[in-house]
Amino acid sequence: RPARAGLYTASDQIVLLTPDNVDGFLVNSSAAMLVEFYASWCGHCISFSPVYKRLSTDLKEWKPAVNLAAIDCAAEENRKVCTHHGIKGYPTIKFFHAYSKPDSPGVSFKAFPRDVPRLRRRIIDSLEAHGEPWPPACPPLEPASQAEIDIFFETNNVQHLALIFEDDKSYLGREVTLDLLQFENIAVRRVLNTEGGLVSRLGVTEFPSCYLSYPGGNFTRLRVNVEARAFYSYALQGLPGVVRSGKPPPVSTGLRTNSTVSETWRPFNRSRVYMADLESSLHYSLRLELASHPVIKEEALKSLKKYISVLAKYFPGRPMVMNSLKSLNSWLQNQTSDQIFYEAFKEILDNTAQAPETALPEGVRWVGCQGSQPHFRRYPCGVWTLFHVLTVQANNTGGSDPREVLSAMRSYIHNFFGCRHCAEHFENMAGEMPGEVDSLPAAVLWLWSSHNRVNNRIAGALSEDPLFPKIQWPSPDMCPACHAVKDNGEHKWNKDQVLSFLTSHFSSSSILTDYLE
Ligand code: FAD
Repeated sequence: RPARAGLYTASDQIVLLTPDNVDGFLVNSSAAMLVEFYASWCGHCISFSPVYKRLSTDLKEWKPAVNLAAIDCAAEENRKVCTHHGIKGYPTIKFFHAYSKPDSPGVSFKAFPRDVPRLRRRIIDSLEAHGEPWPPACPPLEPASQAEIDIFFETNNVQHLALIFEDDKSYLGREVTLDLLQFENIAVRRVLNTEGGLVSRLGVTEFPSCYLSYPGGNFTRLRVNVEARAFYSYALQGLPGVVRSGKPPPVSTGLRTNSTVSETWRPFNRSRVYMADLESSLHYSLRLELASHPVIKEEALKSLKKYISVLAKYFPGRPMVMNSLKSLNSWLQNQTSDQIFYEAFKEILDNTAQAPETALPEGVRWVGCQGSQPHFRRYPCGVWTLFHVLTVQANNTGGSDPREVLSAMRSYIHNFFGCRHCAEHFENMAGEMPGEVDSLPAAVLWLWSSHNRVNNRIAGALSEDPLFPKIQWPSPDMCPACHAVKDNGEHKWNKDQVLSFLTSHFSSSSILTDYLE
C-alpha cells in the first residue's frame, strides 16, 4: 500500500510532509508550495480533503511552478513542524514562495474557499504577487502587449504562440498558460480586450477566444467546441511539434530499431481497437506472465479460474481463439485440487492434438499498442484495452453480474500482473470502488474513470511514450459530445455520452482485424 499520512496517500499526488523532508520542500525550493496543515481528527479537514485531492489533480500540470503538500499536525512526530509554523487551527493553508528562507512563515490563505475553481484563482493571485526570485518554471502571467507579440518570435524559440483574448477579470488565459508550462514548442499569453490594435488587426469579437500566431505575422483562430479551459488545453497540447519538456521529439513512423531487433511500423488508426493487440495480450498473459508461476494455488488459482471464465464468456475473438479459451476454461473449472502446475495449463492451451481450428496464435504483433521505442506501451496498453473490451462486451451482451469482469481483472492484476507497483496502485483504487458500481454500465464507466486517474497520475513520467502522451481520454476530437462545461466554466464529462462512446468504441463490431495472421 502507498505510504499513508493521515487523510492523504502518496497516490493523491500531494507531497506528504514529514520532519525529515519538510526543509527540502519548503526551503529554497524552485517551486512555490501550497501547504495544508491539518489534523486527521478534524471534521472540517476530513470534509475538505476531497477538494484538496481534486485540486491536486486539477493542477497536475502546474506542479513545477507551484506544488501541493499536506502535513498531519495530529501525528505526534509532526508537532514540531506545525508549532514552528505557528499553526493553531485546522485546516490552515499557507503559500510559500519559491526559494523561501528557513524562517519564512509563508502567507496564510485567509478564509479560503472550499471549492477547486476559487482555490485555483487564489493560487494564481499568489503567483502574480510572487515577486523575485520568480519560480523558474512559471511562465509570465501578465497580459501581453501588441509590441511584445510583434517581436515574440525574434526573442523566443518556439513554434507556436497561442493568444487568449479575454477581459481583465477572466482567469482562463493564465490557467491555460499554466496548463501548458510543461510543454515545449508552445507559449501561451493572455491578451486583454483593451489591447485595441491587436484586437482590431485580428478582428477579434469574442472574449474569450484563442488565436495561434505564427512567424511572419499570420494568425488563425483555434477552433474548439466550447471556449473553455479544458478545450483550449487539450487542443494546444495536441498541436504538431508540441511535446512535454525533456521528452525526445517523437519519431512518427518508419523503421524502429533497438540494439538487437528491428521492427517495421504498422500504420494504424489511433481511434480504433485492433484484434491483433487483444490476441497479443492474451499470448503474453497466458504464455509468458503466467509461466512465471510454476505452481498456481489457492487464491491465485481462484483468480485464474475467474479470469479464464470471463475470457471464455466475453472475449470477442475469432472462432479458433474462442475454441481455445473455452477448452481451457472447461479444463480449468474441472480441476478439483487446490493447485495446478502451469505446465499442465500450458499443455491444454497449446494442445496440438485438438482440431486445427482451436488455437491461440503464438507471438505478439502490436498495432494500436505499438510504441515509438521498444520499451513503451505494448503489453500494459494491451491489458487496459482487453479489460475495457471485456466490460463493454459484458454490458452489450447482458452479463448477469455487474462486477464479474472487474473482479476478475482486480484479482488477475493483484496475483499475476508483472508490474508490481501498478498492481499495488490498482488494488488500492479497486478497494475504493463505490457501491454504486452495481450495474454493467457503471462497471464500464468505473474502469474508464479509473484508467483516467492512472493517466493523470503518470502523465509526464519516464514511461510515457512522447508519441502517445497521457491525456484525460477520450479527447474532444474523438468524442466531442463527451465534453461539456458547467455554468461556472469548469469542465465536466457528459457521462451518458461517454458511456455510449465506450460501448461503441470497444464493441466487437468496431474491432479491426488488420495484421492478423
Ligand atoms: P494506456 O494507458 O495503456 O492505454 C491504452 C489505450 O487505451 C490508449 O492508447 C487509449 O486508446 C485507451 N485509453 C486511454 N485512456 C483510457 C480510458 N480512460 N478509458 C478507456 N480507454 C482509454 N504505469 C505506471 O507507470 N504506474 C502505474 O501505477 C500503472 N498502473 C497500471 C495499472 C494497470 C491495471 C495497468 C494495466 C497498467 C498500469 N500502468 C502503470 C501502465 C500504464 O497505465 C500504461 O498502460 C502504459 O504506460 C502504456 O501507456 P499507453 O500510452 O499505451 O496507454
